[in-house]
Amino acid sequence: MPGGTDQTLRPFLWRAANLYPDTEIVSRTHEGVELYTYAEYADRTAQLANALDASGIAEGDRVGTFCWNHHRHFETYFAVPTIGAQLHTINPLLPDEHIRYIVENAEDELIFVDDSLAPKLASAAAEAPAFEDVEFVVMSGSGTDALEATPYEAFIADRETEYDWPTLSEDQPAGMCYTSGTTGNPKGVEYTHQMLWSHTMATLTPQGIPMADDDVVMPVVPMFHVNAWGMPFTATAGGAKHVYPGPSPEPADVAGLIEDEGVTITAGVPTVWLGLMEYMEDHDVDLSTLDSVIVGGSAAPESMIRWFDDHDGGSAAPESMIRWFDDHDVELLHAWGMTEMSPIGSVSHLKGGLEEADYETQLAHRAKQGLMVPGIEFRVIEEDGDEIPWDGEAFGELWVRGPWITQEYFERPEANREDFEEGWLKTGDVVTVDEEGYLQIVDRAKDVIKSGGEWISSVELENAIMAHDDVTEAAVVGVPHDRWQERPVAFVVPAAGADEDRLPESIRELLREDYPTWWLPDAIEYIEEIPKTATGKFSKKDIREAYSDESLLEGRVPEEAAPDGD
Ligand code: AMP
Repeated sequence: MPGGTDQTLRPFLWRAANLYPDTEIVSRTHEGVELYTYAEYADRTAQLANALDASGIAEGDRVGTFCWNHHRHFETYFAVPTIGAQLHTINPLLPDEHIRYIVENAEDELIFVDDSLAPKLASAAAEAPAFEDVEFVVMSGSGTDALEATPYEAFIADRETEYDWPTLSEDQPAGMCYTSGTTGNPKGVEYTHQMLWSHTMATLTPQGIPMADDDVVMPVVPMFHVNAWGMPFTATAGGAKHVYPGPSPEPADVAGLIEDEGVTITAGVPTVWLGLMEYMEDHDVDLSTLDSVIVGGSAAPESMIRWFDDHDGGSAAPESMIRWFDDHDVELLHAWGMTEMSPIGSVSHLKGGLEEADYETQLAHRAKQGLMVPGIEFRVIEEDGDEIPWDGEAFGELWVRGPWITQEYFERPEANREDFEEGWLKTGDVVTVDEEGYLQIVDRAKDVIKSGGEWISSVELENAIMAHDDVTEAAVVGVPHDRWQERPVAFVVPAAGADEDRLPESIRELLREDYPTWWLPDAIEYIEEIPKTATGKFSKKDIREAYSDESLLEGRVPEEAAPDGD
């Protein structure tokens, strides 16, 4: 018999409770900031496990959550999988019809719901047979008028603080999350204990997002978005202090928690950090404890990385720019991943050989999506089925495989045939790979703009436009064109005080510096806000539906529309 036991989440909980009983878990809730220790966390998690037993939740049952980031949500993260049930985190920002579909498809038996989100869940549940037998537990307060629900504290009160955790197989499903397709219903991804265990161990390595017992970890990324990128598990395994920013955190809340709790590692989508950057301009908050800010979910603009470097003394910018970080180096780490990958795939650490390179060379690498973390293999396939050369120029579709990457969607045979091949997940992301092995996402396969038979990266154009001082946000989509197949159109949110008459030409001038003429958008349109998806990404689908039609291109003749100068 070879050695070892199955790879499950239980040892992470055991380690934190026994080695770091006094380490704190801090949580901003509707009732204010609450605080307790891992020792109390372990007691309450056992109480929750006993309460779930008493409610009839058994091995293999699914338990949903419809919650923001707080300590009670974190209690479900270990209690549910560790008794052998499956934690299904539901994204409350999805439309009602998707929520209905998800709960029906997953057959959730019980759902934990935040007080403030109960009306939304009730509206999705109205007249939906799948909800008829679901039990609800409301996370805060004494109950909710929206649903018939037991208050959480009453649910766990008087339960034993010991639990005889079962020995589980590593193949036991532990978690579940749905990923939104651009068309059709969301697709379910199940996470086994082994997937979450190996994801945790890989992210703990120096090439991942390591967390140790002197760290203070604050996931701003919601706990309904792929387990907050696994951070609650990784932070527990590492024995770090946790900080949960609660319902809809504003930039002031994020900045305040960093300062008050001494946060060292935090993570979120680019819009979170754009919000913080804007807020900081007018406020003096001490952010000097920060070591790493993880940016993922969509591309981090290079200008964001530079902003942090300029203000912490990490770039060649004058010392007078140093602010908020007290000359303490904070690293903005770009990470890429997917729901299907639990989710971390790559992180943009600098390779040893690049530590001595000049700042601009380093920045060019750090702005990419980075190097695959240990344990994942990848290949990049061109349209003709061949692998691309690693030259930073050629691009194709990224395929990945590894221990924490799913092998199938839940009950979706047609999507399984399309998206998986011989153990590889076809990510749908179009990438380049440079000589060093750094990946760069060029686009989603379906968002690449095809002009005159050649490809234009909408993502690159967006990032270049967002680097303009007078632009807050920008999205670029391909609009159908009779002659060229598609042409790029940019939708821009101008910054306050921008000269809107001059801005389009000044954006074009900026783009001309780095891009061929045929890449320049044929039209630049102003809008008030870029529509976002339920996970905070630019929603190209909504932009196309709301704004983009062929009339935008009427009367506009591109200077060039293909690389041969046509
Ligand atoms: P989700 O499953 O909702 O997490 O979405 C996964 C997709 O988000 C990926 O396939 C990418 O298209 C995109 N994505 C995630 N991280 C990044 C990143 N750092 N840069 C660009 N796109 C990203």
